[in-house]
Amino acid sequence: MRIEQLGEGTPEVAVVAAIHGDEPCGVRAVERVLDDPPAVDRPVKFVVANETALAKGVRYVDEDLNRAFPGDPDADTHEGRLAAALAEELRDCTTLSLHSTQSYAEPFALVDAVDEIARSVCPYLPVSVLVETGGQSEGRLIEYPHVIEVECGLQGSAAAADNGVDLIRGFLTATGALADDEPVAGEDADPVVVYRLGPSVPKSVAEEYEVFAHNFEEVAAGESFAAADGDELVADEAFYPVLMSPYGYEDVFGYRAERVGVLDG
Ligand SMILES: [Zn+2]
Repeated sequence: MRIEQLGEGTPEVAVVAAIHGDEPCGVRAVERVLDDPPAVDRPVKFVVANETALAKGVRYVDEDLNRAFPGDPDADTHEGRLAAALAEELRDCTTLSLHSTQSYAEPFALVDAVDEIARSVCPYLPVSVLVETGGQSEGRLIEYPHVIEVECGLQGSAAAADNGVDLIRGFLTATGALADDEPVAGEDADPVVVYRLGPSVPKSVAEEYEVFAHNFEEVAAGESFAAADGDELVADEAFYPVLMSPYGYEDVFGYRAERVGVLDG
């Protein structure tokens, strides 16, 4: 774990990259921000979490770090120990954690529950979607209060790193960390639509997977939305697909979600 700090004092604002070692956008974005550091009114901590996995270009070494919280300093796995150290490091911080996906090019945010932090931060982020994962955050960093996860875009893309920089700037603005920068939520920005994550969509064992649905676009009841070796999956009832892709996860296509409302800045 690598930790850098902007400003003096004990940070209550943190940015985390590389929870997953195969998602380089967060580290690139953090390095770009630190290369040309903004003046800050509040100290900010930048954490590169899983350096070992990052160096190997793999998601994790022993187990998925984002399923390993709270972890244990004496855990048998690298990620189990790292989870405990990272949770301790972020204990008193409002935190932005940067990820990327194989399913969606536009940035979006995820929180365990839409609380005051989510309501105050998300309108400043360049996102039009907020996913509430409540009840499905087991072992994830967003299980902790004051943590907002963002998907910056497609894994490995330059655009995801660019979005990461914008997401960090928006987060630092929202938390009042930037000097000479009055927090102003984008007045012309689209409202943030909130989706609540439902059950995952399992993948049966097959050689070829397809997804016909588009994330955050409603799938109607009776519509075929994915296929495993040509066997089509048909929706029993209407839902919104989230994080859905043919090969993004080993054993699920992604998730069903319902649209629950709009955050008005
Ligand atoms: Zn990730």
